[in-house]
Amino acid sequence: MNDNQTRTTPFSREFIERLTEKYPTPFHIYDERAIRENARRMNAAFSWVPGGYKNYFAVKALPNPAIMQIVRDEGMGFDCSSMAELALCERLGVSGEEIMFTSNDTPAAEYRKARELGAIINLDDITHVPFLERTAGFPDLICLRYNPGQLRQGNAIIGKPEEAKYGFTREQLIAGYADAKKAGAKRFGLHTMVASNELDPEYFVETAAMLFDLVVEIHKKTGIKMEFVNLGGGVGIPYRPDQTAVDLERVSRGAHDAYRASIEKNELAPVRIVSENGRVVTGPYGYLVSRVIHTKDTYKKYVGLDASMANLMRPGMYGAYHHITVLGKENTPRDVMYDVTGSLCENNDKFAIDRALPRVEIGDFVAIHDTGAHGHSMGFNYNGKLRSAELLLRPDGTVEMIRRAETLDDHFATLDV
Ligand SMILES: *Cc1c(COP(=O)(O)O)cnc(C)c1O
Repeated sequence: MNDNQTRTTPFSREFIERLTEKYPTPFHIYDERAIRENARRMNAAFSWVPGGYKNYFAVKALPNPAIMQIVRDEGMGFDCSSMAELALCERLGVSGEEIMFTSNDTPAAEYRKARELGAIINLDDITHVPFLERTAGFPDLICLRYNPGQLRQGNAIIGKPEEAKYGFTREQLIAGYADAKKAGAKRFGLHTMVASNELDPEYFVETAAMLFDLVVEIHKKTGIKMEFVNLGGGVGIPYRPDQTAVDLERVSRGAHDAYRASIEKNELAPVRIVSENGRVVTGPYGYLVSRVIHTKDTYKKYVGLDASMANLMRPGMYGAYHHITVLGKENTPRDVMYDVTGSLCENNDKFAIDRALPRVEIGDFVAIHDTGAHGHSMGFNYNGKLRSAELLLRPDGTVEMIRRAETLDDHFATLDV
C-alpha cells in the first residue's frame, strides 16, 4: 500500500475527542450531507428512465430509522427481506409500492406481512407462486427473480450464478409468469441480482441488457408486458484506496443504449428501471470510531482497540479491507506494520492485518472507513460484546445519537437473572 494514499474523514481528532465526552467510543458515525449528495447523484444519473428511476434502499445495509428517513427524503423506497425490516418500514409509515420485498426461503408470516403492507413482492422460486397464493393471497403486482445460471457461464464478470441459491431458471421464469397470471397477477416486474460489491460498470450494463432482452422474450412467449425491471443491488464501493467508485453515469449511458436497442426497438416502452442498492448508498459515509487501549509487541506489532469484530464483522468474515485513519496523524508517514485487533477470543478479530500505519499510541482515535453499510447491522453479541451507538453527523456540524449503545441489561433481557 502506497504511503501517500490517504482518505479523508469529515471530522478531526479534536472534534472526536470532544464528542467522546458525551458519547464514549466505540460508535459508528454517519455523514448526512454526503449521503444526501450521493443519493442525488444516483438519481440524477438515471433521470432519463421513462416513468422514473427508483432505488429501493436495502434496509439490511443500515436499518436505522434516521438514515431511512434521509434516503426516503431523497426519493428512495426500501428493499426488505425479513419480518424485522418490514416492521421497521411499517413503523416509519412506509407502505405500498415504496417497499420491495425481496426474500428467499420465505416464511408464510413474512409474505402475509408484505401483503398487509401492500409491498411489491419479488418471488425467489416458482413454488412460491402457489405458496404465496395459499398463505397470503396473490397480489395484482408481482416480480420474479431470475438466476441466469449457466447461460452466463464463462462470463468472468457475473461470477457463478448456478452456485447461488437465489432465483428462477429461465424455463421456470417463463412458466412462472404464466402461473402468476393464472393466480390473478395483472402487473409484472423482473428482477435479478447475482453479484455483490461489484466495481466494474460494464457488469451492470450487461445485467441491464440481459434483463431488457428477457423482457422482450417473455413478451413474445407469454404476452406479458413488463412494468419494471429491477437491477438488484450489488454496486460496489472502493474500500481500498487504489480502487475507483463505479461510474454510475457510464452505467446509465450503457443501460440507455441497451434500452433503446431492446425495449424501444420492440415497442415495449415504457419499462421502468428500479434497483435495490444498499452499500453504494450509505457505505462510504459511515465510520467506526474507536480508541486505542493497548499496543503490543510480540512476534508482530498489535494495536488493540476498544471496538471488536462484533462492531464490524466484514474484515473477520470476508477478509475484507477497511481503510483505517489514525486521527490527527493523517500526514504522518505510515511506516509501522500493525495488526489492528479487538478483544474477542477469536484470532480473526482483526480489523487489519499487516497494515502500514503511523506509529500508534494508547489514547489515539482511529476511524475505520466504509462502515455505513453492512457494518453495525452485521454486529453480533459473541463474548457478550454490546452493540455500539450510532451517531449522525448533521450537515450543520451537530451530532445526534440515532441509536444508543446497548447495556448489559439489554443483553440479559431475555434471561431470568
Ligand atoms: C443484500 C442485497 C441487496 C443489497 O446489496 P448491496 O450490496 O448492499 O447493494 C439488494 N438486494 C438483495 C436481494 C440483497 O440480498
